[in-house]
Amino acid sequence: MADTGNGSKGQPGLAEAALFGLCPKCGAKTLFAGYAKFAPRCRACGLDFAQFNVGDGPAAFLTMVIGGLVVGLALWLEFTLHPPFWVHALLWIPMVFGSTLWGLRVTKAALLTAEFQRKAREATGQDLREE
Ligand SMILES: [Zn+2]
Repeated sequence: MADTGNGSKGQPGLAEAALFGLCPKCGAKTLFAGYAKFAPRCRACGLDFAQFNVGDGPAAFLTMVIGGLVVGLALWLEFTLHPPFWVHALLWIPMVFGSTLWGLRVTKAALLTAEFQRKAREATGQDLREE
């Protein structure tokens, strides 16, 4: 098996890094500077988090998953229990905000960790000439 060059000693798994905001290189809890804002670099090992670009992937993913889940649950609740409208508002608005905020943090961390583990980066002209 080829050596990836990253080494794997002390590196957290994808789920662990995503759930706890761990640096994908050293496992320190240094990935975030704000609630869902990446720190510029790891305070423990110096890994530059700015080199990774997770883009809009997490937001698009969350929109589809949470939106589909909440609509499905709201329809199920409406057709089975017929609650008043305020019950829907009381349930779904906090659920959407909470799951989006939590999910944004987790999915951003997961994508950054996946990029680190797979050495993902922007393709350049040099990459095309090498093939
Ligand atoms: Zn680190």
